[in-house]
Amino acid sequence: MRPLHFGSLFWPANNPSMPIYPSLNGRTDCQVAIVGGGMTGTIIGYVLARSGISTILIEQDRVASGSTSANTGLIQYSNDIMLSELAGQIGEPDAVMFYRACKNAVEKLCDVAEGLPQDVHFRRRSSLYYASTPNDVAPLRREYEMLHRHGFDAEWWDADRIASVFPFRREAAIVTQGDGEIDPYRFVSELARDGVQHGLRIHEHTTLKSVEGEKGGIVCRTERGEIHAERIVYAVGYSPESAGGRCVRALLNRSYVIVTKPLPSLAEWHQRWLLWETARPYLYLRTTTDGRMIAGGRDEPVRQPVQTDRELGNYTAQLMNDLRELFPTYDVELAYEWCATFGESADQLPWLGEDPDRSGQYYALGYGGNGTVYSQMAAQLLLDDILGIDNSIARIVSPGRTPSQQLPERTTAVTNG
Ligand SMILES: Cc1cc2nc3c(=O)[nH]c(=O)nc-3n(C[C@H](O)[C@H](O)[C@H](O)COP(=O)(O)OP(=O)(O)OC[C@H]3O[C@@H](n4cnc5c(N)ncnc54)[C@H](O)[C@@H]3O)c2cc1C
Repeated sequence: MRPLHFGSLFWPANNPSMPIYPSLNGRTDCQVAIVGGGMTGTIIGYVLARSGISTILIEQDRVASGSTSANTGLIQYSNDIMLSELAGQIGEPDAVMFYRACKNAVEKLCDVAEGLPQDVHFRRRSSLYYASTPNDVAPLRREYEMLHRHGFDAEWWDADRIASVFPFRREAAIVTQGDGEIDPYRFVSELARDGVQHGLRIHEHTTLKSVEGEKGGIVCRTERGEIHAERIVYAVGYSPESAGGRCVRALLNRSYVIVTKPLPSLAEWHQRWLLWETARPYLYLRTTTDGRMIAGGRDEPVRQPVQTDRELGNYTAQLMNDLRELFPTYDVELAYEWCATFGESADQLPWLGEDPDRSGQYYALGYGGNGTVYSQMAAQLLLDDILGIDNSIARIVSPGRTPSQQLPERTTAVTNG
C-alpha cells in the first residue's frame, strides 16, 4: 500500500473515533460491490443503500483513512478547468451541461449534509475566485460572461469592491453562490453509519485481490472472502492500479495543506467565503467552525508525499506566508500541516462509469479539486445506470472517452493496462 499522505492531519485528530467494521470472511452476494471506503465509495454506498440496492463496500484499511482524511472539505461547483476553457475543449453545450451537473451535485451534497442527524460541520458558503495577475483578468471576465449567460449565479467584482471587504486587493474576481464547506472525515463517518442503517455492508481491512467475470456477474476475491456481485465499482482514489483496465491515465501530484490554531476573531474574512485563484497550481483557503484558517496548494508533479518533517516544513512555511500576505493583521500560528498525493486527468474530467472493455466493472475516480462533487455525480450515474435511466452526463465523463488532450510527458504519470 503506497502512503497517500504525510504529516499531522487535522480532521482525524479532531473527531471522535470512527465506528469499526468487521473484515470479510467467507462468501457473500450482493448487487454492487464497492472497492474503497473513502469519500467516493461511501457516498456511493450511502446512495445505493438508501435506494434499496444490496451493496457491500470493502476497504483495505479503515474507512476515510485515505486521501479523504487529507481533503480540505471545500464543496464548489466551479472546476479546476473553467467553464469557458471546457467549452473550448468539449463544446459549449456539453461544458454547460457538465457545469450544471456539478451544481446539482453540490446542491444534493448540501441537502444530504444538512439532513444528517449529526453535525458534520457543514456550512453554505459563497466563493471568491480572484485573478492572480492582471493578465488573468481578461480570461476571468470571459468566464464570468459565460457563467452569467447560462444562468449561473455569478457576480463580477472589481479591485475596489474586493478591497472594501477583504484586507487584500486583487484586480478582479468572480463571486459565486451556493457552495459549501464540510468536515470530510466526519461526513464520511456519518454517511457510512447511515448507509449501514439502510442495509449497506462495510468490511474494513479487506483488500480486493482479484476480479473475475462470471456468467451475468463478477467474483471479487479478497484475502479471506469472496463477493459475488452484478457490478463492481472501483472507488480506489489515487491508487489507480487497483482499478486495473486501460482507461485511466492519471497524473499524480502532491499537494500541501496548513491549518492554523483558532483565532479569536475572523471578522476580516468576509462572511468566511471560500477563496481561490486563477493561477495553476492555485492557492485556496477556507475557515473552520472553530475559527481556524486552512490554506492549501503549492502542488508539484511528484506522486509520493514528502517523507520528513523538515521537508514538509519548507513547503508549509510558504503556505503560511501566502496566508499572511492575504491577511496581514492576523497573528496566525501553525497547528497542523500535511502533504498528500493528489490526482488529475489530462482533460481535467473525472472517470465515472463502466469500463468499455470490462462489462459490469465501473470506475468512480473523481480526480481533480472537486473530488467530493464528482463522488456525488458518480453515485447518481451509477444509480441511474442500475435503474436504466438515461443520464446525459455519462458520455462526457465516460472512462472510454478519448481524452482531448494528450497526456503530457511526466515521470509521475501512471498508465494502467
Ligand atoms: C490535499 C487534498 C485536498 C483536497 N481538497 C478537496 C476539497 O477541498 N474538495 C474536494 O472536493 N476534493 C478535494 N480533494 C480531492 C478529494 O480528497 C478526493 O477526491 C477524495 O477525497 C478522494 O476520495 P476517494 O474516496 O476517491 O479516495 P480515498 O479517500 O483515497 O479512498 C480510496 C480508498 O480505496 C482504498 N483502496 C484502494 N485500493 C484498494 C483495494 N485493492 N482494496 C480495498 N480498498 C482499496 C484505499 O485504502 C482508500 O481508503 C483533495 C485532495 C487532497 C489530496
